[in-house]
Amino acid sequence: WDDTASKIWVDGDMVDWKDAKIHVLSHVVHYGTSVFEGIRAYKNENGVAVFRLKEHVQRLFDSAKIYKMEIPFTQEEIQEAILEVVRVNDLNGCYIRPIAFKGYGQLGVDPSSCPVNVVIAAWEWGSYLGEEGMANGVDIGVSSWRKPAPDTFPALAKCGANYMNSQLAKLEAIDNGYDEAIMLDYEGHVSEGSGENIFLVEDEKLFTPAMSSSNLKGITRDSIMTVARDLGYEVIEEVISRERLYSANEVFFTGTAAEVTPIRSIDHRTIGIGKRGPISEKLQTAFFEIVEAKVEDKYGWLSYI
Ligand code: PMP
Repeated sequence: WDDTASKIWVDGDMVDWKDAKIHVLSHVVHYGTSVFEGIRAYKNENGVAVFRLKEHVQRLFDSAKIYKMEIPFTQEEIQEAILEVVRVNDLNGCYIRPIAFKGYGQLGVDPSSCPVNVVIAAWEWGSYLGEEGMANGVDIGVSSWRKPAPDTFPALAKCGANYMNSQLAKLEAIDNGYDEAIMLDYEGHVSEGSGENIFLVEDEKLFTPAMSSSNLKGITRDSIMTVARDLGYEVIEEVISRERLYSANEVFFTGTAAEVTPIRSIDHRTIGIGKRGPISEKLQTAFFEIVEAKVEDKYGWLSYI
């Protein structure tokens, strides 16, 4: 992975890709002390627009607050820096990764005396689970690894260390020949994918795990709930049992990286018609019409660079 022509924003300065480095004894390297975001920008007829910039930056600051990490910039400064990274790198569509972490200071578990560093990088990144998956659906499996209980790793914080748990599930899924994992929460209810939220369609209604299921409060999840309700669908957040996944008419993932990805099989059981279902397709189309500004930005979700 070589993107040497790019610039990365590091603590307020634009730095060459190859020079954006940290010390090996930084707190984050040893203990996963980071909070981060994944954001996408899309090209449209009027320019390049970042999707739901404010909400992503708000979530970054919320994650930091949970871990008592003081980000030495304002939310407005981080928003502007994100737009600047997309601008200076002359990117069309891209994925943007802001991360705040505890840097070089001391190596005890207590992070208090380590500085908080903030980095923002961006690069072009296609469909996370593949173009073919977007059109025809992906194959997933329920992981034997569960999400942490609410009093262990707080799910609302998008923190680096959480993704060790996600990695166990992802590695197992790949070993088993699946595209992605679905994880259950500590009580055995459906939670989310290793990097995506999940929706079920039953009798033309949408269901997604409630926020009590150790899932991330996904911004795409919120976008799809808003769009679906506007299209006249009932959307219900509740505790969802594993077996409902198998009998649902349709199941799909949502996420910044995964966008809206249909699921065609779970644990070797065909879901619905065995390919992208009609409601998944409708919502996927509506999502891309919004992010690519093919329809009016009526929710104010686009920030032009
Ligand atoms: N759950 C997890 C564990 C994730 O990593 C992500 C990606 N950020 C999501 C859900 C989807 O969240 P969003 O729609 O805000 O990208």
